[in-house]
Amino acid sequence: MSEIKENLKAFKEQLPAHVTLVAVSKTKPNSDIMEAYEAGHRDFGENKVQELVAKQEDLPDDIRWHMIGHLQRNKVKYLVDFVHLIHGVDSMRLLKEINKRAGKAGKRVDCLLQIHIAEESSKFGLDEEELQEIVESIDTFEHVRVRGLMGMATFTDDNVQVLREFRYLRRLYDDLKYKLPKIDTLSMGMSGDYELALEEGSTMVRIGSSIFGARK
Ligand SMILES: *Cc1c(COP(=O)(O)O)cnc(C)c1O
Repeated sequence: MSEIKENLKAFKEQLPAHVTLVAVSKTKPNSDIMEAYEAGHRDFGENKVQELVAKQEDLPDDIRWHMIGHLQRNKVKYLVDFVHLIHGVDSMRLLKEINKRAGKAGKRVDCLLQIHIAEESSKFGLDEEELQEIVESIDTFEHVRVRGLMGMATFTDDNVQVLREFRYLRRLYDDLKYKLPKIDTLSMGMSGDYELALEEGSTMVRIGSSIFGARK
């Protein structure tokens, strides 16, 4: 068995049944994605629109494509027709644009609201106030369906800090579920920290290098 297939198998064996594995294939060739596909995998994540669109055009139609990176408003139009889930909604303006483009395409697009949980100021995401604002106006977005929250923890060996950040996201998720009972997705955890994320209630992990190997 190929290394990619072995890695995938190992993940599937250790993840609880209710947790979705998004295989993050950014920078990796289509042949790598096809290896995972042949092993039965269907959820793939990319962080750049151009790369995502190019791969989508070349690869099988039943792949569920996750846009996990920062999304610029002027690129939303390239995704709405086929994207399975947009993880990185980090502003009201972006949500409005997705709603508008989805409406034009006659679609309803599934989204996650990205929350800023890391200590680095460079990472994208909403703060609590911005989240609140979006939640209050959620009924005006007829063509998006908010499925839950997404976050990226600080890149550090300090597990206590990472746990604290995931726990915070989990608390926001629980609060949100009280207001929007239909939400079902908490996207947190990558190769380096997914175990901690699972402890804190993640329902979707985004794993790249531990499946496909290190990126250049
Ligand atoms: C690249 C990326 C991942 C996967 O990272 P690995 O450390 O390779 O598992 C997960 N989430 C986001 C948003 C990413 O950009």
